Amino acid sequence: MIVGARRLALVLLCSTVPTTTHAQRPAPAPVNLSVTPCEYCAEWNEPQRPFRVFGNTYYVRTRGLAAIHITSPEGHILIDGALPESAPLIAAGVRALGFRLEDVKVLLNSHAHYDHAGGLAALERASGAQVLLHPWSARVMRRGSGLIDDPQFGFFLPLPAVTVARELVDAEVVRVGPLAVTAHFTGGHTPGGTSFSWRACEEDRCWDIVYADSQSPIADTTFRFSGGTRYPTVLQDYANAWRRFETVPCDVLLTPHPGLASTFERLAQRDAGDRAAFRDPTACRAYAETSRQRLDARLQQERSGRP
Ligand SMILES: [Zn+2]
Repeated sequence: MIVGARRLALVLLCSTVPTTTHAQRPAPAPVNLSVTPCEYCAEWNEPQRPFRVFGNTYYVRTRGLAAIHITSPEGHILIDGALPESAPLIAAGVRALGFRLEDVKVLLNSHAHYDHAGGLAALERASGAQVLLHPWSARVMRRGSGLIDDPQFGFFLPLPAVTVARELVDAEVVRVGPLAVTAHFTGGHTPGGTSFSWRACEEDRCWDIVYADSQSPIADTTFRFSGGTRYPTVLQDYANAWRRFETVPCDVLLTPHPGLASTFERLAQRDAGDRAAFRDPTACRAYAETSRQRLDARLQQERSGRP
């Protein structure tokens, strides 16, 4: 029984399932967190050859969960730590690309859930980098346990706590040497959701890259996206996030769950000779639209009184 609930919770943490099925899926019962995860982790954690996306931007693992490495001669920025057990793979991926983990100066995070922030603590220790987080994510990550305004609080999986060097502000530009990565507060999936954008260049081309946080409206049994008291600004946060995705310069979309940006399909096309396979100026708008449709379906479900 608990195993079944855990399985469902872990699937729900992940947002790779298409909208309608996800939106109509019954919310799970709270999970017994004294049982250590994880049934799906091995699948998510499958090895992935690290590769250059474009210019100084690399995908360093895993097959199911993204960690994005942005490099410069004066230090690097690494976004997301995937699962706790992903950390050694990510570290090895950085090294396999020819970079020193100790040269990672800043660690960032899309949102403070087990499958994207679980490996940050180990990466922080191994690299000595500063962890910079949205204030809400900082509250979660300092203690490693969930907050009630997280729509998924009922099945939150504890994660290793980190030392937060500093809290970010919206639209802040995080700098390491010549790197300039803008943090966009795009809450909704959690109150601390953060997306990132930067410009990368290669030969004669420069592209704007966006790492867009998860937008799936997934929640535990007691959370309501409409008229709820746990996270009263959730709809406003979603609307703000969509506006940001629709307006930010965006040639390349990357996402914490790579399937949502067709990352590996694009990689295959690029390997087959299409130099511009990762470039899709419509991708960020489409991502916002998909999120809007998913949330609409979820709101309809709540209005109809279905569980
Ligand atoms: Zn999540």
